[in-house]
Formats: sequence, C-alpha cells, structure tokens
Amino acid sequence: MDSAKNDSAKHAANPNYSRENKAAVDLPNEQWKKILPEDVYYVARMKGTERPWTSPFETSKEVGTYYCAVCGNALFRSDTKFESGCGWPSFYEPISKGSIIYLPDHTLGMERTEVECGRCKSHLGHVFNDGPPPTGLRYCINGVVLDFEKAKEAEKKYQEKGKS
Ligand SMILES: [Zn+2]
Repeated sequence: MDSAKNDSAKHAANPNYSRENKAAVDLPNEQWKKILPEDVYYVARMKGTERPWTSPFETSKEVGTYYCAVCGNALFRSDTKFESGCGWPSFYEPISKGSIIYLPDHTLGMERTEVECGRCKSHLGHVFNDGPPPTGLRYCINGVVLDFEKAKEAEKKYQEKGKS
C-alpha cells in the first residue's frame, strides 16, 4: 500500500479533509467529535496539548510538507523546521500568510499567542518570539494535528542539488 492510500483511509470518516479545496470549513464541535480520532479532537477542538517528546515529527528531518490533520490545509514546509528542544515540532515560518490564524491566549496565567489553522480554525499550538532567523519566531505545534507528505523524489533531488 502506498502512503497516499494510507492517508485517504485515515481521513475516510472526515469528508472535510482536502488538499485541494481551500474553502473555509466551519463545523460545530459535536460534528468534529464524530469524525476525528480522539487524540486529534482533543488537541484541535478542545485546545489540548499533547505530551512533549511524543510526536515522531519532533525529530523528523524528512523533506516535505506538513498539512493540517483536520482539514488538509498546507501549513509548514520541512525546510522551516528546526530543533528547538522544547519537545514539540517547531517551525520558524508558515507556508503562507493565510495558512495560520493568530489569537491572543491569556490562559494559565500567561500571555501567549495561539495559532490556529487558517482553513478550519483548529488549534495547532502557540507562536513565541524566541525562534531563529530569519523570522525570530518559534511555531510550537502539536504533532498530532499535523499530517506529513514527503516531497517527490525528483523534487528532493533538485533541492539537494541546489544546496551544493
Ligand atoms: Zn485545518
């Protein structure tokens, strides 16, 4: 079975998942609860936080694109991922301006900025001001709400060529 098939099986219960459709998705939580896996629902819709160091994406160095696991919206490119040591997958820049929504978060006695998916408004994590250049930002993202797709072999080779 190839990974594309695995992916569609994973999202079979969720008709809102699409890599092509950019239209906003607005569903009440009782609907999401029926179609999302429990761990994804907890983080994405209840603004939960996965335990640190539990996401396989945290240490992954594979070349490709990270998508919202709830709706398929493209969020981050692997070349903006860095090792922050915080225990969650970290990026310094989203794939485009509209891919992410920013909201003030005053919970837990802290002043933080929450980041949500620009298409389905699912909770992704937070953004902090202690990231590396060029943005100085650290998008600290729960791996459970990310889907990853490896860059095509040709694309990967092209990128490696560009580096040398
Ligand atoms: Zn989404």
